[in-house]
Amino acid sequence: MNEATDARLHAEHLRDYRPEFMQMAAKISYDNIDRGGGPFGAVIVKDGEVIATGANSVTIDQDPTAHAEVNAIRNACHKLGSFKLEGCTVYSSCEPCPMCLSALYWAGVRKIFYGNTKEDADAIDFSDKFIYDEIERRPEERNVPGVHVDNSETIKAFEKWASSPDVTKY
Ligand SMILES: [Zn+2]
Repeated sequence: MNEATDARLHAEHLRDYRPEFMQMAAKISYDNIDRGGGPFGAVIVKDGEVIATGANSVTIDQDPTAHAEVNAIRNACHKLGSFKLEGCTVYSSCEPCPMCLSALYWAGVRKIFYGNTKEDADAIDFSDKFIYDEIERRPEERNVPGVHVDNSETIKAFEKWASSPDVTKY
């Protein structure tokens, strides 16, 4: 992609950007430090309204998955009574880490606005960029090696799922 296309795409994506929601995410992230959480906040918006917010609570809840976006997804899904967040826009104080990016894809959100980048997070010793780099590597060469083994037992659940007409697909 050349620079002109890049700038045009950026401007296009910014058309429905609402700075007040990013200010809200920023305030959540800033105030969260005083509560003992990490400096991250997220806001989930649908049809111009805030559906849910989330603050990082990893050290508060002893939960490594309790990132701002994951907490916001859980709050939003609970509120909407759905495991999908279609049509929702996410305002995150920081570029989502690979876990949160995946969770936002699973949730089916339409767009993610973020303030700080993974390089900004790296500069204050958060692992986001490190994990992004790990994903690029072959599983067995990663710091946490992923090792493919025999699947004759594990494949049975997939075969059962594929032949079951009543499962809830997602
Ligand atoms: Zn995350």
